[in-house]
Amino acid sequence: MCGVMGMFSSAADVLPDVINGLFQMQHRGQDACGIAISDGKRIRLHRGLGYVREVFRDRPTPEFAGHVACGHVRYPTQGSNRVDNAQPHMVTTLSGPAMALGSNGDLTNYWEIRRFLEADGVDFAGTNDGELILKYIAFHHIRRHLPILEAIRKMQADVKGAYSACLMTRDRLYAIRDPFAIRPLSFGSGGGHWVVASETNALDICRVDLVGDLEPGEVVEFSRHGMRRHPHPDAQALRGARTTPAHCVFEHVYFSRPDSITFGERSYDVRKRFGRWLAEHDTVKGDVVVPVPDSSNAVALGYAHASGIPFEFGLVRNHYVGRTFISPDQPGRDDGVKHKFNPLRSVFKGKRVILVDDSIVRGTTSRKLVRMVRAAGASEVHLRIGSPITQYSCYYGVDTPDREQLIGSRLSVDMICQHLTADSVLYMTIEGLRECVGDGASFCMACFDGDYPIPITEAKAWEG
Ligand code: SF4
Repeated sequence: MCGVMGMFSSAADVLPDVINGLFQMQHRGQDACGIAISDGKRIRLHRGLGYVREVFRDRPTPEFAGHVACGHVRYPTQGSNRVDNAQPHMVTTLSGPAMALGSNGDLTNYWEIRRFLEADGVDFAGTNDGELILKYIAFHHIRRHLPILEAIRKMQADVKGAYSACLMTRDRLYAIRDPFAIRPLSFGSGGGHWVVASETNALDICRVDLVGDLEPGEVVEFSRHGMRRHPHPDAQALRGARTTPAHCVFEHVYFSRPDSITFGERSYDVRKRFGRWLAEHDTVKGDVVVPVPDSSNAVALGYAHASGIPFEFGLVRNHYVGRTFISPDQPGRDDGVKHKFNPLRSVFKGKRVILVDDSIVRGTTSRKLVRMVRAAGASEVHLRIGSPITQYSCYYGVDTPDREQLIGSRLSVDMICQHLTADSVLYMTIEGLRECVGDGASFCMACFDGDYPIPITEAKAWEG
């Protein structure tokens, strides 16, 4: 997962707002971040490893300012913490930096497209999908002299996979979405500014009003002449047999912040419906409902409201445990869960606990949490999961492990329950998830049902 943002202003320097917007989307990526910005004459780029507030503690240089920009926060993936893979990427011509791009999503034919470009002498600095998308567009625009919109359309026709991207030239910004609209991308306006972002909380902090989401395959252009929408002339043809978009349902399950409006609905409301569904399909009577914070808070609240069982924050989360946290002693290092969560014994003592989490991936964390809650005095621990059984890997931008590492692909629910040492485990069904997200047919649910909307033609060997 990553977060992408673009901003165009009729007059003001957009850097402070882009930094603030990226900061709001920090949960989508903490590995690296970057901003490309143009004053109309020159695009400047600054990228670094770490959090937004670290990389952009100060304005990189006095000249690092402008009225058009794109920015990116990058999700941590194993072995990928190189600045070369941080986004945005930039293309420079003889007359100076010409284009920059940041993208969210993974491609499924990365190596096919990369081999095509390399055969024509195009060099690559890293193995990032955003770099590939940018260079494919630049190749057709700069070398083959296609107008930029046609170069983008050529990219959309040939490059397969998930991408929600912001492309900028020295004086224009283009927001681009793949024909399946897998990753979110919204835009808004206000006070002479246009803002594009993966999540609407980035629009809120920039004080602009949400206009809407980009349609599948749509390109939206921002310039001093205003905003111009370019609907894709034939997004359906690019989707092949699938007649609907394929929004990533995991955005509602886990990734999006609850205050963001994702695919037209606030994730907070959707998650509360997940909780209500679980309560309505439960046969166990508990004494207290406790979320595994933060992504399951709204699910647990929905469960508590529907069941009438009291809601309590029984696990206190340390928000400062980053992925780089290293315990000074080996036993502590082995048990990151203890550093992240501390139980409130008074909440658990002698209680039948309904413990609510968003998903189970490998099962390692859930097992430790169940044991922690029991050790804190719970008489029973019933695990309730706000999504169906995760059984398949994602190839469209979510860093799920290989299938054999997913506990749901190896064990039955009874065996999972035994392994986690829980008293019972209840997942949502795929039909339940479809009901809760409204128009279920418009969502990708491949990590639950294995029905991949875009064929997987290459091994998962790239970094998005
Ligand atoms: S496979 Fe799962 S995580 Fe990946 S896009 Fe589809 S729903 Fe989202």
